[in-house]
Amino acid sequence: MITEISSIVASSKTAYDIAKGLASAYADAKIKERTSELLTILLSVQSDALAVNAKHQELLQDKYNLEKKIMEFEQWSKTKDNYELKELAPGLPAYRRKKMNKSEDSTLWICPYCYDKKQESFLQRECDYETGGFYFCPSCKTPFQWGEIGRGHKMFPRSFK
Ligand SMILES: [Zn+2]
Repeated sequence: MITEISSIVASSKTAYDIAKGLASAYADAKIKERTSELLTILLSVQSDALAVNAKHQELLQDKYNLEKKIMEFEQWSKTKDNYELKELAPGLPAYRRKKMNKSEDSTLWICPYCYDKKQESFLQRECDYETGGFYFCPSCKTPFQWGEIGRGHKMFPRSFK
């Protein structure tokens, strides 16, 4: 379609130049009047072709954006199937990576808030004791804390939202 539109634009430009040349070559008033009409029509055709070309470019961009969204959606669909909603601690939900095989360590957790935004953000473990623990999401900065984390443990060395 781009080729055809470019051809229309080029042809109308050539015709315009020829008609313009005719106008200056002949002194006859009738020829000048008709040539002027022809120039007006050619300008209109050229303008329409440019408008169609611009619309075509816009549609191509829309197509590209939609294909990109579909690809991201398909990718997220595969990624999210690797996780299941569990409790990081009682009352503290997060998504844990499913074991892909028996020997795999399944202690990887991702942030439930980032999960809802179709992002795979691994929770960073600050500390994890039997009495409590503290993780945080490096993307959205949400802290995940529970229980007692032990005396003398320096907490919150970072700034959170
Ligand atoms: Zn997050």
